[in-house]
Amino acid sequence: MKEKEMKTGVLLKRFVPYYKKYTKVMIMDLFCASLTTICEMVLPLILRYVTNQGLKDVASLSVNTIVSMGLFYFALRIIDGIASFYMAYTGHVMGAAIETDMRQDAFSHLQKLSDNYFNNTKVGQIMSRITSDLFEVTEFSHHCPEEFFIAFLKTVVSFIILSRINLPLTLIIFCLIPVMGVSCIYFNLQVKRAFKQQRNHIGELNSRIEDSLLGNRVVRAFANEQIEIEKFTQDNMEFLNIKRKAYKYMAAFQNTIRMFDGLMYVVVIVAGGIFMIKGLIEPGDLVAYTLYVFTLLSTIRRIIEFAEQFQRGMTGIERFMELMDADVDIFDEEGATHLDEVKGSIEFKDVSFEYPDDHNAVLSHINLSIRPGEKVALVGPSGGGKTTLCNLLPRFYDPTEGNILLDGQDIKTVTLDSLRNAVGVVQQDVYLFSGTVFENIEYGHPGASKEAVYEAAKLAGAHEFIMGLKEGYETYVGERGVKLSGGQKQRVSIARVFLKNPPVLILDEATSALDNESEYLVSKSLDRLSEGRTTLTIAHRLTTIQNADRILVLSESRIVEEGSHEELLSKQGMYYQLYTSVRETEKEVELEK
Ligand code: ADP
Ligand code: MG
Repeated sequence: MKEKEMKTGVLLKRFVPYYKKYTKVMIMDLFCASLTTICEMVLPLILRYVTNQGLKDVASLSVNTIVSMGLFYFALRIIDGIASFYMAYTGHVMGAAIETDMRQDAFSHLQKLSDNYFNNTKVGQIMSRITSDLFEVTEFSHHCPEEFFIAFLKTVVSFIILSRINLPLTLIIFCLIPVMGVSCIYFNLQVKRAFKQQRNHIGELNSRIEDSLLGNRVVRAFANEQIEIEKFTQDNMEFLNIKRKAYKYMAAFQNTIRMFDGLMYVVVIVAGGIFMIKGLIEPGDLVAYTLYVFTLLSTIRRIIEFAEQFQRGMTGIERFMELMDADVDIFDEEGATHLDEVKGSIEFKDVSFEYPDDHNAVLSHINLSIRPGEKVALVGPSGGGKTTLCNLLPRFYDPTEGNILLDGQDIKTVTLDSLRNAVGVVQQDVYLFSGTVFENIEYGHPGASKEAVYEAAKLAGAHEFIMGLKEGYETYVGERGVKLSGGQKQRVSIARVFLKNPPVLILDEATSALDNESEYLVSKSLDRLSEGRTTLTIAHRLTTIQNADRILVLSESRIVEEGSHEELLSKQGMYYQLYTSVRETEKEVELEK
């Protein structure tokens, strides 16, 4: 229990700095909260006075006195109205502003995270952390301080006023409050746990929906709709069960409070009544007591209602903090220098690598030296580590051991920005952002001129088909836009790299997913792209890499063979085997056609 409470403390401590920008608003908000509290606390005093005077000596009350009391109270309510408006409006806006700041931080943090994070986290989970989870923070961030402040103020003020009227009765009533407090805390913790579970589950539901939507083709192709529905039903029902638990604790919580509530009134009636009979307090005092107890109880009830919001807010904050705690494992080392005018020599010095949380050596003791402008092809069985080796160069991952040098400089000592600007990557999967074709190409060099973008498209062999689209370069592509073929998308992505103009190039099975004709067109674009650049090509069709200056065969985490196409063939080793087996299948495919 203690640990959980500590955790809430830690979370709050980390959350408080978000108020810093809004200190003035917060102070004003609390000031308004005090005003409304004072206005509320005055009414029982007026009624107490009127009752006592009325019972003692009605004649002592003039119409004037009553009317001025009424006017006084009216004035108080106007002040109360203005203060409440400020709290409801400016307070909520502050909450929303804090939510916005947090979302901004979360998004910025996400930009710094590496492949390692994204490979291990479902997009649905991340999405709910930076959208719906943070909605709760708006309400929380302004109500939390306000409600607790008001509750504290009301409790203290009523204690002072009540004990001045009659101390023993006040002590009896206030003795009940800590008992109430302890049971509140207990149930609150249970509710909090249930809400956290609920939040996690929303993330899981999102991931499941995302998976099913993105993979809808596969689902239909295998006629597995029913299975998808069953899996979803299971998750969906579990969600209901988690909610059921949350509501159970909430109901228990609220009813415990109601019991105490009743108990308080019983105490006021019995003890207060006896005190009155014994002449220890006046009837007006009993009226004031009842009203103050009512105020106290309504405050407690509000806090309880707020407890749910508090828990939801805390859960939102916790999930936000978990996201912010995700390790940034690839970053600029201290004193990193800017890399410019890259010539493109690459050196791997005794590089070994294993994926985090998976202790199999994917690369072991790789030594490799590539001259500027050299065309190197990487071949080898699938899973041999080709992609992994290439991913180390732009630092998508860092080697577990060894160093990689670009132009003689350890890539860990240069800024990530300049390193990644020097390395262009064309992969099998092309991602086009929602936007126009033009914007997608310009992404390679934001702010590039129209001419430069057109030129890049021409070099990539994309200009012609783009001009043939309905709106040319202004055609919308991406999820909601025009559907381009695989080869067209690939050429847009190549245009992007032309525009970026990096001295080093990685082509990772860039044509694998394409049909023969597209492959031919894309290969021509790639040949143009690699002119004059250091190029690492991973090709799954060995015929396309015969012109490489050097071919490396990567198998079981090591470079097992190295040489030109002819040299490797005459060696009759692994390359020879790969080459002949691939030729066989290619021939078979040709024959089938
Ligand atoms: P290739 O490109 O030669 O087909 P990869 O570099 O993709 O090979 O993969 C090499 C090995 O690393 C494989 O055994 C693969 O299962 C493993 N691997 C690839 N990506 C990851 C990852 N993100 N996490 C853990 N293991 C991975
Ligand atoms: Mg690969």
